[in-house]
Amino acid sequence: MFNKILVANRGEIALRVIRAAREMGVKSVAVHSTADSDAMHVRMADESVCIGPPSSQQSYLSIPAIIAACEITGAEAIHPGYGFLSENAGFVQVIEDHGLTFIGPTAEHIRIMGDKITAKDTMKKLGVPCVPGSEGGVATLDEAKKLGAEIGYPVIIKATAGGGGKGMKVAQTAKDMERAFQTARAEGKSNFGNDEVYIEKYLTTPRHIEIQVFGDGKGRAVHLGERDCSLQRRHQKVFEEAPGPAISAEERARIGKVCADAMADISYIGAGTIEFLYENGEFYFIEMNTRLQVEHPVTEGIFGVDLVREQIRVASGLPMEFTQENLKINGHAIEVRLNAEKLPNFRPSPGRISQYHAPGGLGVRMDSALYDGYSIPPYYDSLIGKLIVHGRDRPEALARLGRALGELIIDGVDTTIPLFRALLEEEAVQTGAYNIHWLEHWLETNLGEA
Ligand code: ADP
Repeated sequence: MFNKILVANRGEIALRVIRAAREMGVKSVAVHSTADSDAMHVRMADESVCIGPPSSQQSYLSIPAIIAACEITGAEAIHPGYGFLSENAGFVQVIEDHGLTFIGPTAEHIRIMGDKITAKDTMKKLGVPCVPGSEGGVATLDEAKKLGAEIGYPVIIKATAGGGGKGMKVAQTAKDMERAFQTARAEGKSNFGNDEVYIEKYLTTPRHIEIQVFGDGKGRAVHLGERDCSLQRRHQKVFEEAPGPAISAEERARIGKVCADAMADISYIGAGTIEFLYENGEFYFIEMNTRLQVEHPVTEGIFGVDLVREQIRVASGLPMEFTQENLKINGHAIEVRLNAEKLPNFRPSPGRISQYHAPGGLGVRMDSALYDGYSIPPYYDSLIGKLIVHGRDRPEALARLGRALGELIIDGVDTTIPLFRALLEEEAVQTGAYNIHWLEHWLETNLGEA
């Protein structure tokens, strides 16, 4: 086991990793920008190193600064959290070249899955069902129009390098194709430096169902069921739950096995998520994330496991503690993402926290780096915490979420708390009868969001 690891991230996910390390008797090193000198992850880690100015490019994304921090502190391994450098194959290569260990998959796994066209191709070959669409990239508008007619409208044009909901444009009819094609390409180019796009059938009533997988890097892999992340705004998740209200035990076992077998085939190591759209009883692969997800705590809730601990164990060469047989689902878990944003437009709302009170009690988990008097800097993502509840069943989890949201106080900045209080009043949320478009419609009707 490692003696010391470095956490190349900030906010709640940095705390998450530091906490797991501490329980394992592993020392932790926090890195931070000058804007984060007072951040909770810096206070909670055993050591900290300032790695640059506020701009992420010069701090949390600076590979030389992070490697130097490892060398100064003697950290042997790096946990990337999510976002930032977590899916950067070049980073993994540099870490290996320096004789350090990346707590995550190999550079090759990241490379294969990071490009969505290659990922789809790989998954198809491994027997995973995919959304119908183009075979590989689509280079010209003429080709796009021809494919649109073949696949049948509506279709979605996606940048192969896309992520975070960027680089995706829907063409409802042939008339929209030119604009959708050019915009998806331009977004791919400007956000990810790659203008290659592909085309998929645009599903009109799917759920977003993702399978948590875990591999030991030696050809053994398991699945930890699904998460339903259908409540989304602008293709980004805001509310996640496990198990999925629409997924039966048979479907879970079937798709879970397909995913675990695919991961065993490529000797995947660590945590990963295989994302699907689920419509009319069919699963369609959309992408794989080769890292820990924001919403991993709902899976931890129902399986009673610590995914970060397991990541650290397998990265250090220890065997995986999971076996498929001893992974049993217990109850229901829900997570809501708390963002410092002002409704109705979700504008970032950085600033000083004048009062913070976290909810507690049975089945309540608050993953947040907030504290009284903390100033949320304006430079980073607006996620300031995650409230996760666990109950014996879905109704109990929902009631607990309502109770916990009632106790939660975050004053001084605007947050998305009122959104979740309102959503809990909705029948579709109470019954779980929603799809990926439900929240967009709800926001339009209730908040006037276009
Ligand atoms: P990103 O990498 O930007 O997160 P994904 O490929 O994971 O993009 O898709 C994010 C979300 O976009 C999905 O959860 C879904 O809501 C929507 N989406 C993606 N592909 C399709 C599709 N073919 N049909 C309908 N919606 C889609």
